[in-house]
Amino acid sequence: MDYFDSHCHLDPMRYGEDLPDILARARAVGVSGMTVIGTRAADSEAAAELASREPGLIAAAGIHPNDVAEIDADEWDRITRLVASGRVAAIGETGLDWYRQEAPQEVQRDFFDRHIRMAQKLALPLVVHSRNSTSDCLSMLREAMVRGPLVAVLHSFTGTAAEAAEAVELGCMIGFAGMVTFRSSAALREVAIAVPADHLLIETDSPFLSPEPLRGRRNEPAHLVHTARCLAIARGESLEKCAATTTANARRLFLRR
Ligand SMILES: [Zn+2]
Repeated sequence: MDYFDSHCHLDPMRYGEDLPDILARARAVGVSGMTVIGTRAADSEAAAELASREPGLIAAAGIHPNDVAEIDADEWDRITRLVASGRVAAIGETGLDWYRQEAPQEVQRDFFDRHIRMAQKLALPLVVHSRNSTSDCLSMLREAMVRGPLVAVLHSFTGTAAEAAEAVELGCMIGFAGMVTFRSSAALREVAIAVPADHLLIETDSPFLSPEPLRGRRNEPAHLVHTARCLAIARGESLEKCAATTTANARRLFLRR
């Protein structure tokens, strides 16, 4: 079995000396591909560094919408330089967070727009955080797509079926994380069932939100298999098919150059 964790935060700042064991455990259960996501300049640089020496890992660089109001003056320039160096395969994570609202909405929109333009300029996929903001994120993506091509992932998707359908219509990929396995997430599983197979991604969003039955523990990419199993059961397909489809989708998206 071959799995691809399309969204995880694996920088040494979060896992310290456990990182080699985390990677070994992921590979032992078949998680051979991982997209390591940045949320600030430092962890984006660390993601690129890690991806340059670890097979199967790729890096994304960006500034998380919850952090855009508190970044250092040079951080956007560092992201720009890193992306220009060709060492990352995606832009993000970026987006809008109307749930935590840690940064003013205009600042979040400004940074989301900068990431969108960067992704379009370099023809890289965009990793989007859309907590309680899916329709506003989709509006900005739709507007950008009038200017030129753009491929985006709505990661850790928690929107409605109608929003998922709109995202698919825009050509977006939709990533499901551990939340979809929770007993209380029946509605989200219904959304996941309706997503066309070629738009489906799975992710852990490590170190956050472990899937059932590991809820409450620090998350890591090896736990992806639980999310894959849950989605396979919900969609009435084999685990092999779910793993193969989502892995092929992630490779097509992140490794197209
Ligand atoms: Zn994330």
